[in-house]
Amino acid sequence: MGTVSLLKCYRPFFSTLFPRSAPSTPHAAIFRKKSPPSFCACSSPPFTAEKDCGKSGAQGFTLKKPSPEVWLHNTMSKTKQLFKPKVESKVGMYVCGVTAYDLSHIGHARVYINFDLLYRYFKHLGFEVCYVRNFTDVDDKIIARAKELGEDPISLSRRYCEEFCRDMITLNCLPPSVEPKVSEHMPQIIDMIEKILNNGYAYVVDGDVYFNVEKFPEYGKLSSRDLEDNRAGERVAVDLRKKNPADFALWKSSKPGEPFWESPWGPGRPGWHIECSAMSAAYLGYSFDIHGGGIDLVFPHHENEIAQSCAACNKSDISVWMHNGFVTIDSVKMSKSLGNFFTIRQVTHP
Ligand SMILES: [Zn+2]
Repeated sequence: MGTVSLLKCYRPFFSTLFPRSAPSTPHAAIFRKKSPPSFCACSSPPFTAEKDCGKSGAQGFTLKKPSPEVWLHNTMSKTKQLFKPKVESKVGMYVCGVTAYDLSHIGHARVYINFDLLYRYFKHLGFEVCYVRNFTDVDDKIIARAKELGEDPISLSRRYCEEFCRDMITLNCLPPSVEPKVSEHMPQIIDMIEKILNNGYAYVVDGDVYFNVEKFPEYGKLSSRDLEDNRAGERVAVDLRKKNPADFALWKSSKPGEPFWESPWGPGRPGWHIECSAMSAAYLGYSFDIHGGGIDLVFPHHENEIAQSCAACNKSDISVWMHNGFVTIDSVKMSKSLGNFFTIRQVTHP
């Protein structure tokens, strides 16, 4: 409901900037289908390259027919590859969205402008694009911030989702086809965790569910890391209940005062990574064209997503893993933790 009302809230802004002939598919319509379609019916009808090319442009010159060839850098192969859609004339693209607990900075702006450009270009070439960009509205950082402010975590994150949408309007980014939120996809997330458990890739400890990385020999193939790289006490917190220090949480049992949802393993909430595996599968299926985000997501987020999706469905296959670089200040990554950032709002409304 939150997303639907949010879409209602910001769509009028877009309608003045980007008149759309048809609204995006409402989430409810997609959820009613038992097995998700390979592509959700989304975006306005595609135009053909022929229809839009060869006519005179505004300045009186003839527009050149755009090349249908698109070459993309694939983080998995570390090479540029000729893009071949899995379904003729369609593109399924999932881009990891923000964790909504504060105003977004210009490092975020780079990610979403990057993929907005790609979205527009595919549409320009005549592809029907289903562009899914999620909101993380259930997360440790949100819970901590809400505690500080004495606010309900879900309402805090809803507020910052709306702020993010305002920033995207300012940056002239088109709205994606769907903007799913974690809090609205618990059945899909729980269903995927059950599949992973049933297939023998995870285990339950005291109401928590962990992914067992040793069961997935390809773990590390995106980031080119060995399991040895994830030594306990360095990047991964020591937890003696885990079979391997690199095992990661699919479900976390609830602590007092935290938001929780009922599950077969007791009340709790999902780990961060499972949301994107579950929501991409819900809207695009297990096999789709492009999964993207900032380069900091390669490990652990996208590595873990690959492990989860393949563990839930052995036919899971993403054609291209696409990542953009950091925004840097004096050669240092801009980040909240270093305090060297500018919010989009500071830059666009000085
Ligand atoms: Zn993600």
